[in-house]
Amino acid sequence: MARSSLARISVVGFTVPLIAALLLMAGALIASDRALMRSAAAQLRIDAEQTRVAVEHALKDRAGTDLTRAELDSALRPLLLRAPAERSAAALVAGGDTILVTGRRAALRHDPHYAVAVAGPSGAVWLLTVAHGRGVAALRTAMWVLSLITVAILGVGVIRERRQAMRVSERSAELERLYSEVARANTAKSEFLANISHELRTPLNAIVGFVELLKDGVYGDLSPRQVPPVDRIAASATHLRHLVDQVLDIAKIAAGRLEVHPETLVLRPFVLNVASELESLVNERGLSFSIAVGASLPRVRTDPAHLRQILVNLIGNAVKYTPAGSVGVRARMVGASTPAGSGPRRDTPDDPFLASRSPDVRRAWIALQVVDTGVGIAPADQARIFQEFEQVNAGPRGDSMQRGTGLGLAISRRLAQLLGGDIGLESQVGKGSTFTLWLPVHPTDLEPLLAAAARPGAPVA
Ligand code: ADP
Repeated sequence: MARSSLARISVVGFTVPLIAALLLMAGALIASDRALMRSAAAQLRIDAEQTRVAVEHALKDRAGTDLTRAELDSALRPLLLRAPAERSAAALVAGGDTILVTGRRAALRHDPHYAVAVAGPSGAVWLLTVAHGRGVAALRTAMWVLSLITVAILGVGVIRERRQAMRVSERSAELERLYSEVARANTAKSEFLANISHELRTPLNAIVGFVELLKDGVYGDLSPRQVPPVDRIAASATHLRHLVDQVLDIAKIAAGRLEVHPETLVLRPFVLNVASELESLVNERGLSFSIAVGASLPRVRTDPAHLRQILVNLIGNAVKYTPAGSVGVRARMVGASTPAGSGPRRDTPDDPFLASRSPDVRRAWIALQVVDTGVGIAPADQARIFQEFEQVNAGPRGDSMQRGTGLGLAISRRLAQLLGGDIGLESQVGKGSTFTLWLPVHPTDLEPLLAAAARPGAPVA
């Protein structure tokens, strides 16, 4: 990613709403100011009218008489609520704010003001000018000052937000740089591991090969004293080669260098072949071994080398973690359900629980299961054992031949995913484990089975 688009978004995300808020505030301020002035003018008109009515009412008995200044003052005195703030000629104040001025338009300090004609004594017409002693000017000033302070605070907020966003942007750029460095270092590590493992394999293969030749007596018979150490060398070298192979595999997978060469396989002979290689191991441990892989299963298109590696690892683990009891391999077809009589022949009917656990319930799968009655795996450990170097109750470091690497399941799951499937696990501590390898079935490989099932008299299991 170029310089943090995330940070750019956050800058835009903060600044644009704040600027919009400022503009809205300015608009609202101007509108409120206008409304305030309009309402002040309206109030002024109402005050002037009320004053006119009050003055005319106070003078109504004196209509047609000449009044002295003193008489006028005393006639209007009831209207005087408190000392006038301003008066001229016969001016009076009604109400705290309202100023009455008689005569022609008087010079008033107050602005705005409003003038109404009043019928005065002796038929005179007075001009009543009304203004508010405390006008709206102070209110408007307060409103503007407060608003400008708010705008200034918001402006400071915007600037701070922008600075913050810039800091986030710099931090994101730094994190991105660190991430790409880590990714580069990880790739370099995988490359290094792949190279070193590759370099180790050649001499290890030589050691294993020559030890076998020694054991076979090609270089002369071994003395009875020489046999145990040579056997030990053979076992250790084979174990070491296995470890190096695992490290090489994981490094290749991490570097994306493991290739898949698919072939079309018939599962039953394939599984029987792999199982026969491991049979001696199972017998050594005194376990019973069963294989239930139907001949009528559809063919699978997969990489036989990867499939073999997964199976060997799962069966090897089952044997390793089953002190007594049995180990079995079974295969079931899942997810290609069709109405009875029209679907592919099944060795076992669809197991709804198993079907619900397939990687994609809309597709057809073969569930190849390795079942044991061994120590089992606690629910808390079931996810982590598929991660690299994760083991449960690993043995002591010195006992490395027994200890394993914790890489087998990680490699197996990644291989299964490379093959378009996955590995699932069901286990109960003390009762045993079932590892399920999901292999996808290509729709065209289902067709022969569907055709066979459609023939009259075809057996449907
Ligand atoms: P390794 O066997 O070399 O330790 P794996 O990746 O093959 O590494 O297995 C990881 C861990 O998963 C093992 O250490 C073991 O604790 C647990 N495990 C694997 N298979 C089984 C099984 N069939 N029964 C019980 N535990 C198992």
